Amino acid sequence: MRKSFLKGAQKQLLTTRDQLMEGIRAEGATGRDLQKDDGMDTYDLASEDRDRDIGMILSDRDRGKLQAIDAALERIKGGIYGVCEECELEIAEERLKALPFTRLCVVCQGEREREARLTRRPDEDRGIRRLQVGDTEDEG
Ligand SMILES: [Zn+2]
Repeated sequence: MRKSFLKGAQKQLLTTRDQLMEGIRAEGATGRDLQKDDGMDTYDLASEDRDRDIGMILSDRDRGKLQAIDAALERIKGGIYGVCEECELEIAEERLKALPFTRLCVVCQGEREREARLTRRPDEDRGIRRLQVGDTEDEG
């Protein structure tokens, strides 16, 4: 993974994160007093306690996104960003640009989605209910 690309990705992630936090803060400020946390601009990546606190006012989707961003930032720090968790090959830069916090390469993602579909079980298990002839038999 190129260093310049990593830098760009990190910047993008941080920007997305900032925007997310900004939105959360705006939402939170209406119902909650978050004023005491004035230092939120210089947000420390390692402050998990604050994350947890903010997590209370997050929607599940936002929380998931935030976690994904944090995880991606962690991976950048750890030097494993852009490496597929499954096959450990580098994820294509194009894909990372589109999905900055993806953890899987396009192949493994496809595999995983297919597996998810399989485990969800297709229609075969629905069990076609055969109508028993019988109820309508007293006609005659
Ligand atoms: Zn892979």
